[in-house]
Amino acid sequence: MMEKEFKTIIGLEIHLQLKTLSKMFCSCSTEFAAPANTNTCPVCLGWPGTLPSVNQKAVLFGLKGALALNCRINRESGFDRKNYFYPDLPKGFQITQYARPLGFEGFFTLGEKNIGIRRVHLEEDAGRTIYNQGNGEIDFNRAGIPLVEIVTEPDIESPGEARDFLKDLRLLILYLGISDCSMEEGSFRCDANISLKGEEEKISQNQVELKNLNSFQAIFRALEYEEKRQKKALLDGEEIKGETRGWDEKEGKTFLLREKGKKEDYRYFPEPDLPDLILRQDLIGSVAEDIPEPPMQREKRWQEEWGIGKEETGVLISDKAKADYFEKAANFASPKEVAKWIKEHLYAHVFPLEIPPEYLSEIIKMVEEGDLSFPQGKEVLKETLETGRKPGEIIDDKGWKQISNQEYIEELIEEIIENNPGVVQDYLAGKEKAIQNLMGKGMKKSEGQANPQTLRSLLEERLKGREEDG
Ligand SMILES: [Zn+2]
Repeated sequence: MMEKEFKTIIGLEIHLQLKTLSKMFCSCSTEFAAPANTNTCPVCLGWPGTLPSVNQKAVLFGLKGALALNCRINRESGFDRKNYFYPDLPKGFQITQYARPLGFEGFFTLGEKNIGIRRVHLEEDAGRTIYNQGNGEIDFNRAGIPLVEIVTEPDIESPGEARDFLKDLRLLILYLGISDCSMEEGSFRCDANISLKGEEEKISQNQVELKNLNSFQAIFRALEYEEKRQKKALLDGEEIKGETRGWDEKEGKTFLLREKGKKEDYRYFPEPDLPDLILRQDLIGSVAEDIPEPPMQREKRWQEEWGIGKEETGVLISDKAKADYFEKAANFASPKEVAKWIKEHLYAHVFPLEIPPEYLSEIIKMVEEGDLSFPQGKEVLKETLETGRKPGEIIDDKGWKQISNQEYIEELIEEIIENNPGVVQDYLAGKEKAIQNLMGKGMKKSEGQANPQTLRSLLEERLKGREEDG
């Protein structure tokens, strides 16, 4: 019997913490490791009689994210209350966007494929419960932290695709500068829905939701585990129950957190304490103008325009400051060489470097054209980075400029040949190594400034000529 084939269907929900200094609806700080309950006020603690006010920056960041994900924008959106009880939710409800999200019907291009983006909306975070020796302790510093939630369509077809999507999405968000996207600090969090569908079946089985996946590796492994578990169950004729599962990193298994009974009723209703969120067209336009070229598109352009491969671009593209710097420097020297220098000699540096990109390309160009030896180039780079002085000045001070001038080198060669007839004889008699001796004499005579490649090739040419003459 042929083994039954299943199609994997994955949808993701990503929560990003927006990079604002203050919270979504009050002026409390969003600082990460502040002592517990120090970044709180009556608004984010939900005291009666307080009123929220919207953080403008958070709205602009959310809008930037929605536009970069090719979403349609609700010019008139608003906030809703999502009601539920949980100890770390001080108001007894979360302010979110339900009926009218900021953005909807977008897409994200992953390789050759578009992944649908169902919605992008703003909301506030809840507090955090810390379990300590059987006691639950609550830290409200996170309560009211501005988040944007991105919900994809169930267009993802494998655990690997989910991981690639998240990696590329994270990079895009970093380029936008709207979130730090730190998985360790919880500013980039992901939940995943996964279900399987038999080839001939129209609808998929019940969805299993995976919660608290806090690394790309965990996301991939949890989905892979779940894909296998569900496949086996279906082949055994079991029904997949709709449930929420966690991921046990140590055991490498998902485990049941709770069964999904009937759909939770959050009793959403419009937040009465906040007016509608109305975005003017010119504001949307100016935010759109501020969106940089997406990293994956940029990488592709470099490959097409400059012929540099993935191996070189990967290191550059992963950091926008580095990519921007590279692109500027690559305008003045060979992009391939610039990429190589950044990758091999500047990997430990923070970008943008403190020297203008032109300095870097000047050095690279001189090495490429033979005006500086490679070790000299590296030394000049080191010094310009330390002192900020122009490469030209450093080279002048050291008297290092190599001489590639053909006329000068030809004269030099005549002189060496003239003064070392014995060595020349040796070479002509077949002692190839004798050329090293002549090279050494030439370098010494020019005080180390002759370009060794030029010297060598002209010397060989000259001696061969003599051979033929002779
Ligand atoms: Zn507050």
